[in-house]
Amino acid sequence: MLTITRKLEFDAGHRIPDHKSQCRNLHGHRYTLLITLVGAVVEADGQSDNGMIMDFSDIKALAKTHLVDLWDHAFLVYRNDTAVRQFLDSMPDHKTVVLDRIPTVENLAKAAFDILKNVYQDRYGTGLSLSKITLYETPNCWAEVNGGGASNG
Ligand SMILES: [Zn+2]
Repeated sequence: MLTITRKLEFDAGHRIPDHKSQCRNLHGHRYTLLITLVGAVVEADGQSDNGMIMDFSDIKALAKTHLVDLWDHAFLVYRNDTAVRQFLDSMPDHKTVVLDRIPTVENLAKAAFDILKNVYQDRYGTGLSLSKITLYETPNCWAEVNGGGASNG
């Protein structure tokens, strides 16, 4: 199996409202997102992406449009975290992303997978699809979502 992976980074704030320790405080991370695509190599003479699974610049552009530019320098807040939502709403034009799950790295990785799985389309009949999302919250802590197991929640 041949895969390619594009790495992007973004900064975001969050908190884990039920956490027993430090993570309940408002804080931020520099997240590292790894997008892994699987598929056969394009064989289309004369096309810019001939010989590739997908052009890395196209992977980046799509990820930015549909996810990274939305989350970068935003505060990622759980829908039911009422206190923080009211606070964020009190600030004009604050960049806030309301999520239907607590913004742990596990849930953010699942949300990213759910968004991006529909973004990468098989244009050449090569079986191109999103294979894996890896999201680092810190250099030592990350979550992975693999295709096929991503629709469980
Ligand atoms: Zn955190």
